[in-house]
Amino acid sequence: MLTRSLLLQLAGNKKMEAFIKQNAWSARMAARFVAGETVESVIEPVRQLNAQGLAVSLDFLGESVTNQEEVALVMDTYLRLFQVIREVGLNAYVSLKLTALGLDISPELCYRNMQRLLKAASPDLFVRIDMESSLYTQRTLDLFERLWNDPEPFRNVGVVIQAYLYRSAEDIERLNAMGARVRLCKGAYREPPSVAFPRKADVDASFVRLMQRLLLHGNDPAIATHDPKMIEATQRFAREHQIPCDRFEFQMLYGVRRDLQMRLVQEGYRVRVYTPFGTHWYPYLMRRLAERPANLWFVVKNVLRG
Ligand SMILES: Cc1cc2nc3c(=O)[nH]c(=O)nc-3n(C[C@H](O)[C@H](O)[C@H](O)COP(=O)(O)OP(=O)(O)OC[C@H]3O[C@@H](n4cnc5c(N)ncnc54)[C@H](O)[C@@H]3O)c2cc1C
Repeated sequence: MLTRSLLLQLAGNKKMEAFIKQNAWSARMAARFVAGETVESVIEPVRQLNAQGLAVSLDFLGESVTNQEEVALVMDTYLRLFQVIREVGLNAYVSLKLTALGLDISPELCYRNMQRLLKAASPDLFVRIDMESSLYTQRTLDLFERLWNDPEPFRNVGVVIQAYLYRSAEDIERLNAMGARVRLCKGAYREPPSVAFPRKADVDASFVRLMQRLLLHGNDPAIATHDPKMIEATQRFAREHQIPCDRFEFQMLYGVRRDLQMRLVQEGYRVRVYTPFGTHWYPYLMRRLAERPANLWFVVKNVLRG
């Protein structure tokens, strides 16, 4: 628990980021969880995933962007990504973070950027808005609902709900009533007990309750977890309620539990792999290490080998 908390704290530490990114082993370590640095470099890894029956969600790494030039770069990258997905015929859509599109600079700028991206993605590509820390939950949901109710409403957009937040039960009901497409995950940030369940058992119980609401009343829900207990609970609930496999999908992270990803495909489930790319991989990597401090051994082994 202490290691998780420490790693999550370090995820936001700029000095640590500079130190880690200078190290020779870091690129090799990041390569386990990150598919490449440029749009072009992800084509081959995505093709390979597709060839194994896995769909993909591509995320250009970057968050908490506070200057307009960086936001412009993020926009250009996503627009180029849409082009490449179409030209190459990849089975992929995209995920993004609103703080990478300027939410911290101005919600209005972020909204206009989202409108532009969703128009460019339409009609064939879907855009998932990732959920960030609880400081952004309300703003993210507000912006999503505004897009949904835009004079020219957007339907090629979805959002994420985190099971560790107390508020999520209510959020799920509202999103289900709207017909919104929701990805359910446990939640990856360091949150205080005033907003999130501190105990893993309570997070897991919340995940199961929310998964059931999504399977019964959601629109094409995505169940994003590597936890075999959550996956079994989902499969069991779907069977008991005669919900066919194609009414929902499982999602997992690039480089995590590849065995489980393949097993689910072989059993006939839809599986999508969240595949990040780009050079800003440090906070993403630290959150992955926090989820499974055993991954630190992987790092140490690489350092010793290097
Ligand atoms: C597709 C996808 C999208 C996500 N989007 C968001 C988002 O928008 N916002 C957000 O806050 N969080 C997001 N997350 C992260 C999520 O909130 C959790 O932090 C993460 O998935 C770990 O939780 P778990 O459900 O896998 O279960 P856990 O209880 O953490 O882990 C269960 C088991 O899974 C395996 N495992 C889990 N993580 C790792 C890892 N890093 N390396 C190796 N094995 C591992 C281990 O075997 C572990 O015992 C996303 C996760 C996925 C899969």
